[in-house]
Amino acid sequence: MRRSGKQDNLSMSSCNVGRRGFLGSIGAGALVALAPGVTFIRFAKARSANEPVTDTHHWGMLIDSNKCAQGCNACVSACREENGLIGYDRPHTDVQWIRKVTLEDKRSERKSSFPVMCQHCQHPPCVDVCPTGASFRRADGVVLVDRHICIGCRYCMMACPYKARSFAHEAISNQKAHAPRGKGTVEACTMCVHRIDEDPNLVPACVEVCSAQGKGAMVFGDMNDPNSQISMDLKSYSSTELRSDLKLDPGVRYRNV
Ligand code: SF4
Ligand code: SF4
Repeated sequence: MRRSGKQDNLSMSSCNVGRRGFLGSIGAGALVALAPGVTFIRFAKARSANEPVTDTHHWGMLIDSNKCAQGCNACVSACREENGLIGYDRPHTDVQWIRKVTLEDKRSERKSSFPVMCQHCQHPPCVDVCPTGASFRRADGVVLVDRHICIGCRYCMMACPYKARSFAHEAISNQKAHAPRGKGTVEACTMCVHRIDEDPNLVPACVEVCSAQGKGAMVFGDMNDPNSQISMDLKSYSSTELRSDLKLDPGVRYRNV
């Protein structure tokens, strides 16, 4: 669907962020709340630190714009809190791994609001242009940056059509152990791999807070599993890839955009 009047909404304080509370494991599986009144049980095995990532899972997200409230930035705030995206020694420098975007159809004046983060492309141009191999795609579909070999050239930032990557200009303090960052390197949404590697029954922080606030606009799961909620939703409803013309096959899909 063609839209016009794209604008980013970077306000951070419109919604309160619910207290973080991991979805608890129940026996071998976990009861996962996806939306008000919608739950399912996922069964998956945690990956140990020495175990290589395989293509057993293909992690993805489905975001429903009709359920995403304009002015709500709970997912943005949750991401910042989860990944320590504050704590620059000079706090005027900002980074964003996820941002809210509002599209307006000029003819109908219908507005749709939804979050945009790294789309975890199957054919990621950021990886193609990286001269050191710092940008890479895991076998489970998650695209990451190895900060140890990132030289800060920012080619990947120019190559990304979604403006999904940020650059750490300043020295960073108070980092989270699970989300190490470094001045002079590029960073982006990690799909909260620290959570799903620890326990595949967990969901990313943004998805968790969206569900906890009763909106349920974000569904996360394994697209390789035909019984996962995301697979069933993708089969049942039409969905959209942002910039599908680029044929990047993103792991993040949208509804009602
Ligand atoms: Fe790379 Fe951008 Fe695609 Fe993420 S959205 S995988 S940063 S090209
Ligand atoms: Fe941020 Fe995690 Fe959501 Fe990515 S998946 S936008 S890192 S909270």
